[in-house]
Amino acid sequence: MGMISGSVAKSPEVKPARTITLLGATGSVGTSTLDVLSRHPGRYRLHGVTAFASDAAMAGICIAHRPTVAVMIDEAAADRLSTTLRAAGCPTRVEQGEAALEALGRDASADTVVSAIVGAAALLPTLAAAESGKRLLLANKEALVMSGDLLMSAARASGALVMPVDSEHNAIFQCLPATSTGICTKGVEKIILTASGGPFRTTPLEALRVATVQQALAHPNWTMGPKISIDSATLMNKGLEVIEACRLFDLDVSDIEVVVHPESLIHSMVRYVDGSVIAQLGRPDMRTPIAQALAWPERIDAGVAPLDFTEVAGLHFEKPDPVRFPALRLAFEAQAAGGTSPAVLNAANEVAVEAFLAGDVAFLQLAELVERTLVAAKSAPARDLPSIIQADRDAREIARRELATLN
Ligand code: NAD
Ligand code: MG
Repeated sequence: MGMISGSVAKSPEVKPARTITLLGATGSVGTSTLDVLSRHPGRYRLHGVTAFASDAAMAGICIAHRPTVAVMIDEAAADRLSTTLRAAGCPTRVEQGEAALEALGRDASADTVVSAIVGAAALLPTLAAAESGKRLLLANKEALVMSGDLLMSAARASGALVMPVDSEHNAIFQCLPATSTGICTKGVEKIILTASGGPFRTTPLEALRVATVQQALAHPNWTMGPKISIDSATLMNKGLEVIEACRLFDLDVSDIEVVVHPESLIHSMVRYVDGSVIAQLGRPDMRTPIAQALAWPERIDAGVAPLDFTEVAGLHFEKPDPVRFPALRLAFEAQAAGGTSPAVLNAANEVAVEAFLAGDVAFLQLAELVERTLVAAKSAPARDLPSIIQADRDAREIARRELATLN
């Protein structure tokens, strides 16, 4: 929008750079985040970066961006990284292990933390960021799904601003009015989460039985890490996102509807009681929600080409098929059951996806394994962090046991 103002051109306001910690810097979202940051060097400074074990990728990041700290989980990778950085004359300090990761999430030298680690491993550093009043850019969804109200209430207590980066939730954020007290959901009739439908949207059930890892990883619209790609193929990703939306916007599962939209141009919508529907559109490129969440309430260039509507062939919508994609129902049920059920769903799914990627279970057994674990695990109140961690651990054990009986 053009600003209408007086005729005197003002010099741009000089603001101190925001300092960023990027958890999961070597991943798909991590790489997109670094791309956006590198377009605005005066505006953002990278304080900390983390990865599990990919030290070669991490060395490249450190040499290019010169962060103060780099944390590796894997010890041998941390040692290799130290050696490489020393030889390159890069001043980044290398730390190692989960305690260092959590401490970096809390580190006051950064005012913004991007949580782009995959899976439950993000829980402690993300919670640390939420507890320390930062701007928290949340790409990771598993921590939010498993944590009950813990993460959001920690953010409320500390004054942390949680900005959703997951494209659907970022879209919803943009479709809801922001007031002085936060995002307002008054008058919302339904949140409509769009789903691409994944690589198997039109694949018959019989063919799904023999679907390969390679087919499941080949997402039609998005390039993402392996775990979320498999979740997109089963629609468990959409299930996790239903729960994520409930947590982020304080909604009930009955407030949420899922619509398959194969073009992935509408990233989600909000339908209001007066009949209005507000949608957010854009190319399927994570740099858009990342840039929106980094700069909000301002807007910055994300390197994404403009969307040309004359080149859009059409926008299509269909209902998700509950028979071929039972994972979606399981997520709705787990959230309705409440307590530790979403943590159980998430843990069982992580075990199942790992087994599928290793070639140990068939595609249709992914949801079966999750369902069996949900039936076998007792749901308890998600009272505090220890009860959530316990539920996660127990569910993984049950899922591994069920896995052994499947084959
Ligand atoms: P990815 O697999 O590409 O990257 C994961 C990152 O986490 C890597 O840096 C890896 O080193 C690190 N990591 C992995 N295991 C770890 C562990 N045990 N401890 C510490 N660090 C660990 O994943 P991704 O596709 O970038 O997704 C990251 C998160 O963002 C996921 O929760 C995903 O659901 C969410 N997300 C991703 C996309 C996308 O387009 N990729 C979109 C929306 C949401
Ligand atoms: Mg998403």
